[in-house]
Amino acid sequence: MGTNVTIARDGLQALIEALRADGREVIGPTVREGAIIYDAIRDIADLPAGWTDRQEAGRYGLEQRADGALFGYTVGPHAWKQFLFPARETLWTMRRTGDGAEVTDGATPASRHAFIGVRSCELHAIAIQDKVFVSGPYPDTNYRARRADAFIVAVNCGQAGNTCFCVSMRTGPKVEGGFDLSLTELLDDTRHDFLIAIGSEAGAAIMQHVPHRPATAADLSAADSAVARAAAGIGRHLQTEGLKQALQAAPEHRRWDEVAARCLTCGNCTMVCPTCFCTTVRDHTDLAGNTARRVREWDSCFTLDFSYIHGGSVRHAPRARYRQWLTHKLANWIDQFGTSGCVGCGRCITWCPVGIDITEEAAAIANAPAAAREAHHEGA
Ligand code: SF4
Ligand code: SF4
Repeated sequence: MGTNVTIARDGLQALIEALRADGREVIGPTVREGAIIYDAIRDIADLPAGWTDRQEAGRYGLEQRADGALFGYTVGPHAWKQFLFPARETLWTMRRTGDGAEVTDGATPASRHAFIGVRSCELHAIAIQDKVFVSGPYPDTNYRARRADAFIVAVNCGQAGNTCFCVSMRTGPKVEGGFDLSLTELLDDTRHDFLIAIGSEAGAAIMQHVPHRPATAADLSAADSAVARAAAGIGRHLQTEGLKQALQAAPEHRRWDEVAARCLTCGNCTMVCPTCFCTTVRDHTDLAGNTARRVREWDSCFTLDFSYIHGGSVRHAPRARYRQWLTHKLANWIDQFGTSGCVGCGRCITWCPVGIDITEEAAAIANAPAAAREAHHEGA
């Protein structure tokens, strides 16, 4: 592995067709309702050719590019977790029989997926969820099956978003591993090609069906320049050194009150986050009482019900819920799983309706004098 080859733009069509011929549902970026989202694609024409995104805290919009780049945007509101760990999944169904009941497990995954356009930060997010659902103490059978079957075509970022901070989290912008194939888009006035790094035997097998040529030194150099351009354009920074200790030492910091005055506890940040995985279960019965289903759904630590135990919610105040989310992401996750729970994708900043910025909130606490961190405030 580690071989680099180059394909022309049309070679991407051959790649999509080869993946489909391999029995895979191909999922990739496409434009819908004013955003670049991930959905089933059949053709290179489904990709967001000539589109880019503009992102700020609380703002997102698409603009036409001056060129025809196919991957000339950063990350949108979707993450790959919706395919590996769907937002709603039936765990089991119970049907009344003559004198008893019959229980069947929820459906097992039907699709073998190929994901096209997985960014470096997103590969790190998938690796974080793997720790929970594949190698953790409570593996998830369906996640494991989907993950084992997934073919990953990663893409190196050629530009960075204004809310990205992957460099701070050491999760990007260059793809370093965990893929079958990785693409770097090489686009200028004279050509539109893709450098492809082959990362697995499955990747090498697929490339046998895709016209390609050996990569030249000029191809490799152009790819390095594209990634360096993205790294130089990163919009935000998070100082991670000492952050865990600072957050864990500051449960009563005044900043939690200040951010809670803005936070709507809508949970948008957790829905768009590629690593968040909290769920709840709901039971559904039909009106005749013949069938019951237990369904697992994405939940959020921002809902009042999420921390409900007998007698009420543990985190009833918004400050407690924001503090739980941010402290878990950037500090307690490290104790739990050995890595940060944040990959610096910036989605929670862009998609927060009031523009709360995780990098600003963390820095406000980390940079505060120790006395301010320990100041006591009323409320949960
Ligand atoms: S931080 Fe923003 S996105 Fe998250 S719950 Fe609060 S208002 Fe919603
Ligand atoms: S916490 Fe925010 S920046 Fe970090 S991974 Fe989640 S959505 Fe991305």
